[in-house]
Amino acid sequence: EFDFAARVGRVEPSATIAISNLAGELEADGVDVVDLSVGEPDFPTPENVVEAGKAAMDAGHTGYTSSNGIPALREAISEKLAADGLDYGTDEIIVTPGGKQALYEVFQTLIDDGDEVVLLDPAWVSYEAMAKLAGGSLSRVDLAPHDFQLEPALDDLAETVSDDTELLVVNSPSNPTGAVFSDAALEGVRDLAVEHDVTVISDEIYKEITYGVEATSLGSLDGMGDRTVTLNGFSKAYSMTGWRLGYFAAPKPIVEQASKLHSHSVTCAVNFVQHAGVEALTNTDDAVTEMRDAFDERREMLVDRLDEAGVDVAVPDGAFYMMLPVDGSRAGSDPDDDHAWCEAAIEEAHVATVPGSAFNAPGHARISYAASEERLREAVERLVDADLF
Ligand code: PLP
Repeated sequence: EFDFAARVGRVEPSATIAISNLAGELEADGVDVVDLSVGEPDFPTPENVVEAGKAAMDAGHTGYTSSNGIPALREAISEKLAADGLDYGTDEIIVTPGGKQALYEVFQTLIDDGDEVVLLDPAWVSYEAMAKLAGGSLSRVDLAPHDFQLEPALDDLAETVSDDTELLVVNSPSNPTGAVFSDAALEGVRDLAVEHDVTVISDEIYKEITYGVEATSLGSLDGMGDRTVTLNGFSKAYSMTGWRLGYFAAPKPIVEQASKLHSHSVTCAVNFVQHAGVEALTNTDDAVTEMRDAFDERREMLVDRLDEAGVDVAVPDGAFYMMLPVDGSRAGSDPDDDHAWCEAAIEEAHVATVPGSAFNAPGHARISYAASEERLREAVERLVDADLF
């Protein structure tokens, strides 16, 4: 018997695993599964970025780098953030192997046993896990009754945030809903954060992927510069999931503490990957626009198809996810049992989705539309044919 640490006992394996296991089993049996469960762009990494990575390897950039990241990349990040209205110097940035590691370091740096972390539901699965791993206690505000928007939920947020709140996590555009929060909503967050002296994580990993709206950077609001940790990564905007590159920018005292964790755990992000990151930040405008336009077309097509099928979705303004309401449908007739709906979707229609419960949003299923239009059409057809709406 192993005597496990309490922290690992506090978290569950990712809820998406059951679905991807089922999908894997079906595919092994030769079944054609439309997999809409993955949070990953279906485009290759832009060619010039791949070339920059190769060139960096050839040039011998294969050793350790300075722990917080190569100066050229921190410089490029600082400039990118400045373009978003954010003022972070290169000594206020840590480059990490993926945005997930950045989040992990921030939680570990700020959260002690019992510290309150406020999440906006539906929330990306890993926030809860990271808060719990750090020993934090969770308070949650539900945006589901408000079409996933924050502005109409500001009163609820005001009731939840108090002087005891240590950290609030804001993710706009949101995974899993695709919601982009209004400036008025972000100003509401600012007022509460200032009043109660709360640090806020602004997870902006989908910021470059919006449709006709801009996702404002929370840290650009008056009063937020010295209390916002801005987090981003290369996985989504530049289709670089497997490269594992991300970063966070934070007031210097936070970076000073977090860099201890960073240097004693990962040492640094991969050297040649950081060089590819410079190319991604400085020379991919056209590739990003192309991917965004493709997501946009799929989004519109999907909303239309679902509408024809009688499914009324909250139309996402960003990212590449959509929440399907599945309560009241045949397989989801128990409003909380979105697991049953997702199981039926994969077993009967061979369409893989993620139960909303994974994001604390029962009665929904998340789909990713980072798939070809043809496969998306096929998915809706199959779900309709299997009588799942
Ligand atoms: N934040 C959100 C909201 C995400 O959806 C993801 C990935 O799914 C991440 C952060 C982390 O991505 P990565 O570690 O690939 O940078």
